[in-house]
Amino acid sequence: MTRTLTLYNKFINQPEPFEPLRPPSVTIYLCGPTVYNSSHLGHARSAITFDLLHRYLLKRGYQVEFVRNITDVGHLMADQQEDKIIRQARHHGIHPMAVAQRYTESYHQNLRLLNILPPSIEPRATGHIIEQIACVQNLLQKGSAYESNGSVYFDLTKYAKVHHYGILSGRKLDQQKVGTRPLEGSQEKKAPYDFALWKKAPKGHLMQWPSPWGQGFPGWHIECTAMSHHYLGTQFDIHGGGQDLIFPHHECEIAQSIALHGKAPARYWMHHNLVFLGKEKMSKSTGHHISLAQAFSGDHRYLSQPYHPMVIRFFILQSHYRSPVDVTDKKLQQAQQVYIKLINGLRICRKLAQRKPPEGHKGTNTAVSEQIRHASEGCEDALCDDLSTPALIANLHKLRKIANEIYHRKIAIETLPVEDLHLLCTTYTTFVEEVLGLTAPDSRVFPSLLDGLVTAYIKAKEEKNYPLVDAIRTLVEKEKFTIQESKGATDWFFHV
Ligand code: ZN
Repeated sequence: MTRTLTLYNKFINQPEPFEPLRPPSVTIYLCGPTVYNSSHLGHARSAITFDLLHRYLLKRGYQVEFVRNITDVGHLMADQQEDKIIRQARHHGIHPMAVAQRYTESYHQNLRLLNILPPSIEPRATGHIIEQIACVQNLLQKGSAYESNGSVYFDLTKYAKVHHYGILSGRKLDQQKVGTRPLEGSQEKKAPYDFALWKKAPKGHLMQWPSPWGQGFPGWHIECTAMSHHYLGTQFDIHGGGQDLIFPHHECEIAQSIALHGKAPARYWMHHNLVFLGKEKMSKSTGHHISLAQAFSGDHRYLSQPYHPMVIRFFILQSHYRSPVDVTDKKLQQAQQVYIKLINGLRICRKLAQRKPPEGHKGTNTAVSEQIRHASEGCEDALCDDLSTPALIANLHKLRKIANEIYHRKIAIETLPVEDLHLLCTTYTTFVEEVLGLTAPDSRVFPSLLDGLVTAYIKAKEEKNYPLVDAIRTLVEKEKFTIQESKGATDWFFHV
């Protein structure tokens, strides 16, 4: 029986059963990065959280249409005179699109290392200027926007008279960030909280396009509305992003879609919590962050060693996506230990799956069978409960411990029903590899070579050739493996 998947829906501020609009498809739009700098652990959290959702929906048999955009049009944020992409372009003396290209490439490279499934479509804002202009024109025609001095603004006062603005954040209209700088166009707006759909390009602005209102560039919020609508239609299933995007970005997206199509763009709104470093939010714009390259190389004052991308992936996944993650070197080290345990569990489950029970064998160990069934159901229940990865990982540890005991012959394999052994091995490998997306650390040593070393190790032990025993052990440990001795099951495992 397939359990009902329940997701916390920010739109209604409570968990609810997930029902896709057009089964067996599930449509997801995730706000992607603005590509002007190296990606950091906060970006990794966004990618990993929605990769978990993507993978789990696939496991449940859905076809997932996953759209994740690239923001390659720079956008002005509060207290900035120049957008981030253009600032980098001027700093390096290169074209803004070269900035976007460079950091899109490094973003993709990091995501591959983190084993993130590629999205179905990855639209770029600069490739959809036509669609964005069409949305702005449409909003003007509907009377939801107004033109002012070559820029176009969304008329929030008018919108809020009929609709609920602030449905996700609970904020009131007068709490909308007010532009105070001349560039923000405070003189041009009817109300301070109106937001830009299209901005007139200041003289010498490096990224600009022709429009019915003159040369300019699109506002940030209209980008996601235009692209999600273009690829997923007027309404799709899940809109994702970080909590920091709830306000104003997602509120503005909802207002734009309701004004354009009469309905919110998505039915379920999912937001992951943020990543903190020393209790302060990690942020690219403030420079308070650990970039992924720094995490992978260990080249950061907070870190004592390099961390494998899979350790970073596990570190993020061990917290529930709606809980904050506080990065410390100690916590990363702990995550590394547990990750290695989980990966060694995979190796044991694979070996157990190969062990053939005797012909006609019917196990009767009901106590262990019960534990296996209970923990396996626990894995499913955990993810159905709003993707509770901590509960999933707790159940995987239970399965791993049972597998270890069978492997080390503390539980006789012959006493177990074959189907329960099968359930143990498949549940464990499916959830660790396919759902959590964890793979073994790459190594320059081939597994077959390690197998050969283990054989030589066992022989040297039998012959009491202790110098050779020590030499093999040292060699193996140097490559981050360990030889575990066990009656009839001496083998190599991953080691930190
Ligand atoms: Zn967005």
